Amino acid sequence: MGEAPASLIDNLQGGYTNVFDLKSKGKQTATVIGSKTYVIGWGIDEVETFGVRAFDKCTNEWVIPTVLGTKPKPFKGHLAMLLCQDRILVVKENSTFDDCIWFLEVNTEYIRHQKKKLGTEVVAWSRGVIGDAEKPIVISGPSGVGKGTLINKLMKDFPTMFGFSVSHTTRAPREGEKNHVHYHFTERSVMEQEIKDGKFLEFASVHGNLYGTSTEAVDAVADAGKRCILDIDVQGARCMRDSHLEAIFIFVCPPSFEELEKRLRARGTEMEEQIQKRLRNARTELEKGREPGLFDHMLVNDDFNACYESLKKLLGLDEAVNGTSCHSSSEVGYLPLVCSASASDEKILIVSETVELEKPSQNRIVLDMSSIKGGAPARTRGLNMYFA
Ligand code: 5GP
Repeated sequence: MGEAPASLIDNLQGGYTNVFDLKSKGKQTATVIGSKTYVIGWGIDEVETFGVRAFDKCTNEWVIPTVLGTKPKPFKGHLAMLLCQDRILVVKENSTFDDCIWFLEVNTEYIRHQKKKLGTEVVAWSRGVIGDAEKPIVISGPSGVGKGTLINKLMKDFPTMFGFSVSHTTRAPREGEKNHVHYHFTERSVMEQEIKDGKFLEFASVHGNLYGTSTEAVDAVADAGKRCILDIDVQGARCMRDSHLEAIFIFVCPPSFEELEKRLRARGTEMEEQIQKRLRNARTELEKGREPGLFDHMLVNDDFNACYESLKKLLGLDEAVNGTSCHSSSEVGYLPLVCSASASDEKILIVSETVELEKPSQNRIVLDMSSIKGGAPARTRGLNMYFA
């Protein structure tokens, strides 16, 4: 690890909060929260290995926390500002509007929960999203009920609107299944280690194999400007509810158990032993699916077209134009060099500078955080940005 520059250490010892370290050209910032000072960014020559560390005044030692969530791509300069004593707002320099606002959560409910679970110091990144991005959709239901077919049709009819969260699994690929498209096929020992490292939002042992959703899988869909769809089992949905991820939970059930067995056999993808196992699990899934407060909506897949129409209706798509995107990336602006920021209530004024034809010009942008929602392990939604 590189040494912190002398100017930063001086600032830490002076007890300043929210230091925008001009001497290191904004490449490192230090934010004091309680007895800890969180330093974001490494030394001037090390922008590629940008990271987070904390200086603990009580022990006089640096702590390297476990960093959860998809990290922002390395950046050269930024501003940092403490919000609500539990997260640090990070404004990236030279960045597009849709990627310039990030939050480093250090003491939110999610972080406290993860600290207990992992037994280490934990922080988590959450990207700020302008406007109210749509919540992910979790679809569960017993094997053979037709979840996959419903999801595939939704993705085919609305290709720019939805993206599939690619799960990890330790089961072997079926014929025609592609690695990193249908699943990230993985070794059990590798997946178990990644679970210990806190990379998964949820995981479960299903039909004797491990299945899980990584934070990165969900973030990758959001980063592509799409609404995330997850196909996970009921145990996974339970974990997801507990993981603080705000989502819509839908349970798909068959018209009868006999019909489910017929469909599972007709699919022809499993041997008899696997079919028996999946049928046993289906009974438990159907019982667990009725657990109060777990699912927001219940769909019966008796007639496929009727079930698909109901799904579209509850997602507010019955009148939508096919293929219309949720977000318009053409509206994305660009935030030039950030110079300073000041806060009043929930609004932050960001002053940025550009040099055009050798003449500096200033932009004053207001970041309105009065309606923020969500946060790690997903995006922080509901931001508003406009020119002052
Ligand atoms: P299959 O082996 O047929 O692809 O999937 C078996 C079951 O695993 C399905 O019920 C599916 O919903 C569930 N599943 C797939 N991915 C995940 C995941 O990431 N997490 C959990 N908990 N279940 C999953």
